[in-house]
Amino acid sequence: MFDPYLEPLLTVREPRLSSYTARLREFRDWVLTDVDAQANYTDRYAPPALRAYDRDGELINRIVANPQYDAQHQECYRRGIIGLPYKESAPHLLSFTMGYLLSQADISLHCPVTLTGAVAYVLGYHACEKLRGEFLHDLVRMDGCTKTGGTWATEKHGGSDVGATTTRAVSNGDTFALHGLKWFTSNANSGLAVATARPEGAPAGSAGLGLYLVPSHLKDGKTNRYLIRRLKDKLGTKGLPTGEIELLGTEAVEIAPPPEGFKTMMAALEYSRVHNAVGSVGVQRRALREAVAWAKSRDAFGNKLIRYPMVQDELLRMRVRFEAGALLAFEAALSFDAALVDPKRGTWLRLVTALAKYLTAEDAIHSARSALELIGGNAYTSDYPIARIQRDAQVLTVWEGPANIQALELLRLLSPKYRGAELYERRMHGIANALPSSMSQLQRSLKKRISDDHEAIAVVTADQANARRYARRLLHRLSQSLGFALMCERAVEGERLALTAIRYHEEIEPPAIGGEDPKVHHEALELIDDEAVSESQQSAAVTKD
Ligand SMILES: Cc1cc2nc3c(=O)[nH]c(=O)nc-3n(C[C@H](O)[C@H](O)[C@H](O)COP(=O)(O)OP(=O)(O)OC[C@H]3O[C@@H](n4cnc5c(N)ncnc54)[C@H](O)[C@@H]3O)c2cc1C
Repeated sequence: MFDPYLEPLLTVREPRLSSYTARLREFRDWVLTDVDAQANYTDRYAPPALRAYDRDGELINRIVANPQYDAQHQECYRRGIIGLPYKESAPHLLSFTMGYLLSQADISLHCPVTLTGAVAYVLGYHACEKLRGEFLHDLVRMDGCTKTGGTWATEKHGGSDVGATTTRAVSNGDTFALHGLKWFTSNANSGLAVATARPEGAPAGSAGLGLYLVPSHLKDGKTNRYLIRRLKDKLGTKGLPTGEIELLGTEAVEIAPPPEGFKTMMAALEYSRVHNAVGSVGVQRRALREAVAWAKSRDAFGNKLIRYPMVQDELLRMRVRFEAGALLAFEAALSFDAALVDPKRGTWLRLVTALAKYLTAEDAIHSARSALELIGGNAYTSDYPIARIQRDAQVLTVWEGPANIQALELLRLLSPKYRGAELYERRMHGIANALPSSMSQLQRSLKKRISDDHEAIAVVTADQANARRYARRLLHRLSQSLGFALMCERAVEGERLALTAIRYHEEIEPPAIGGEDPKVHHEALELIDDEAVSESQQSAAVTKD
């Protein structure tokens, strides 16, 4: 299996994925061995460097990455991470699942793959026939020559307020010349980027933004007119080149004029946020694997760590948060394909994506931190992978929109225009009502949660002041509620899944000390053993470098 927890669920909910399980398994084995070794090496010894000019002073914007990183980046495309949904009509779920696997070793590779996928998605679904015909092929090819993508929105004044974009687009007839400064551009040496800019005479705010396609090279082979002026010196994702790019009359073609430009960039962001969520869950998975492996092999005071109830409790906490996060993230991934078929499902996609993006990023950081603490001093050193994973995970809450921005998205979707609250409650009630009578405890807990959610939504949306103040708390609450509901939905598949749902409920509605469900507590060791067994079946990662 490519993943013992997710494979049974995903292949049932999306039967098309069943044709790709062998491919996913191979991909996972490659990620957990070769990619993991590369990620540790790149982070520690060989991060990318910028060479903006050649020896004659000509602009070349070259990023010098270590050859392993470059080769593996292409190998991801060769294995179909972006191409298969376009070449074989595979579901985009396949890309998201590969992203989940890839991030178990390297977010610095998962990020550029996401950006390539986002540009392909814009061209494939939101651009005119002519642009699609001319450019999409290069992004989705699987022959080792894929052009990679970039999304350039953030400017110096800030990344959240995209409507305040100052980059200008000057029309030259068939093409545009872009002038401005993009402050964060990951995969800075992308072959094709999408950039927001304001055409001359367009109004202020997001309604005045167009979206433009920027090739790194012009038709005559010369470097396009922009300067990667420096690479950011970052806390983590050190393998990923994130640059500042000065647009110096950069040649670009229009993908969408105002007012569609902003909306199209938001569509690209929607895609990236789903990747962010599955990637965060991949980090949780990895952190849990490292922690369980350590706890089973490390002795302290004459016993393996795993024998100590406090250790078991923390491992269980990581495990149930992983399950809730995985179900949320893949609810978003499945909804992505569903919304392509039926655009009326777009509101649910946006709602569940905001919840998933938020919670999984928070829990990825929590899991990495927990693994670090459990493993102890060794994990704080670069001899072990958790130090890197912890540093890398911090970015998951920042890029693609921080928590407050997801909270504002939630508020928007709860407004009468979108009627997100109705959709949310319908899904939650649907799950609660379908639970069999043998699961009455879970059903009671879920119904109580739904009724408290209803009140919370009413309070937060009562007026502007409440909305601005409490939106993030509502986001937190609803994301945990939906995660819990999705665990209840799966609980019918077996007792073990019901126990983790009960344990997750204790996580989000903590009982008094000593008030935990004794059955869950009693079977804690067995649950963790399940985890270890399933992981060893997965040819667990070689974490030495
Ligand atoms: C490693 C890395 C790579 C990146 N790569 C890219 C890239 O390739 N392309 C790209 O375009 N960007 C990229 N970014 C930028 C990233 O998308 C932004 O950092 C992010 O969108 C947040 O913008 P900001 O940092 O300017 O923070 P700001 O927008 O200034 O926000 C700061 C804080 O204020 C909060 N806030 C903002 N507005 C509100 C409000 N109305 N109400 C309540 N709270 C609010 C935010 O939640 C946040 O916590 C990258 C960032 C990093 C760290």
